[in-house]
Amino acid sequence: MKVFKFGGASVKDAAGVRNVAKVLSHFPDDDLLIVVSAMGKTTNALEEVVWADLEGRDPANVIDELVRFHRRINMDVTTDATRQGTELYEALEKPLTARLINADLRVPDRYYDRIVSWGELASTRIVSNHLDSVGLENTWVDARDIIRTDDLYRSARVDWSASKAAAASRLQPLMKSGKDPVRIVTQGFIGRNHHGQTTTLGREGSDFSAAIFAYLLDAESVTIWKDVPGMFNADPNRFHDTKLLSHISYREAIELSYFGASVIHPRTLQPLQKKGIPLYVRSFIDLSAPGTTIDDQSENDSLIPSFIVKPKQLLISITPRDLSFIVEENLSGIFARFAQQNVRIDLMQNSALAFSVAVDDTPRSRGLIEDIRGEYEVRYNEGCELVTVRHYDEPTLAKLLADKEVMLEQRSRTTARFVLKAQA
Ligand code: ASP
Ligand code: MG
Repeated sequence: MKVFKFGGASVKDAAGVRNVAKVLSHFPDDDLLIVVSAMGKTTNALEEVVWADLEGRDPANVIDELVRFHRRINMDVTTDATRQGTELYEALEKPLTARLINADLRVPDRYYDRIVSWGELASTRIVSNHLDSVGLENTWVDARDIIRTDDLYRSARVDWSASKAAAASRLQPLMKSGKDPVRIVTQGFIGRNHHGQTTTLGREGSDFSAAIFAYLLDAESVTIWKDVPGMFNADPNRFHDTKLLSHISYREAIELSYFGASVIHPRTLQPLQKKGIPLYVRSFIDLSAPGTTIDDQSENDSLIPSFIVKPKQLLISITPRDLSFIVEENLSGIFARFAQQNVRIDLMQNSALAFSVAVDDTPRSRGLIEDIRGEYEVRYNEGCELVTVRHYDEPTLAKLLADKEVMLEQRSRTTARFVLKAQA
């Protein structure tokens, strides 16, 4: 069986949902497990609902818009009258309306996971309805029954053995049901912990979900269907003359996504690599485009420079108040604070007196700065960009850095990284 993943951009409207059916119709004989994200910007809207509830504001407008948006698409793509209304009502409208009844807002991250998961529950209902309408029989599965996690809300970690057992008891029987190809439609991004509560795997986590399912089911491949024709050596919106990376190794892809290449979620590749399951990144717009293949063959790794830009970074410099050198005890204390607050360090460097890190500029990072101010002297620069160049050469760097203000730089044999002051 093959695992397919369709992200939010691929199901952002009725035409997108129809296109999913079109893609699937090219694979009439394959058993497919289809992982779908929330539609368009739904997860952002659901986050708005969460923040409003936590701050005691009324998100009625956002909710109305969300409900209308989903209802319109569902009506458009679904012919069955009951399914036009009831199922979507159960998946999205009813829980949204009733969200505050018996809700416990004391654990904000748990509340967040409960609310944002509705985006995927609704989108998969609509996709499943549409596939049925056009004669592509399918079974809708609640991913939370399979993907079991710990209780680190908003970035839950997979309990592999519990998930394996759940896949064996709930998915395997579906796969063996007959000679017709089997299609399972399920959600990305969401899971459930041992207390029965909904968890999420972190923003953009649907790619990772696809990899988890592939691992659990020993799939033959995973295909991520995107609005771009594969993985490129740079973001075409920022750089000219970008080139398709047509075949790269897991290792290279892990490096690229770790440094911030947004085409695939960084956690996606490890489970696939463990089982040697290839990952294809292909265009849902141009089905004839070959796309990118990622597998264990490294001899194809492209040695052309790849550029990854992370915008909106804070460059923070941390110095112990007593000017004690940055030694192990200090560093482990600092790392612990970052881990507690769940702030990911994108780059780090230390000197005798200061430890410098680049992190995403988020409310969490700002909170962390305030938090450690008592113990450390903290200075920061906002509005920075972190640029990583894999397989760099000097002419490329010279061109990249012309009239840029470099705040910090690091080079290894294969990779050069720069924190740049963003141009005003
Ligand atoms: N819907 C989730 C998000 O927007 C997960 C995903 O799309 O991968 O982050
Ligand atoms: Mg995505």
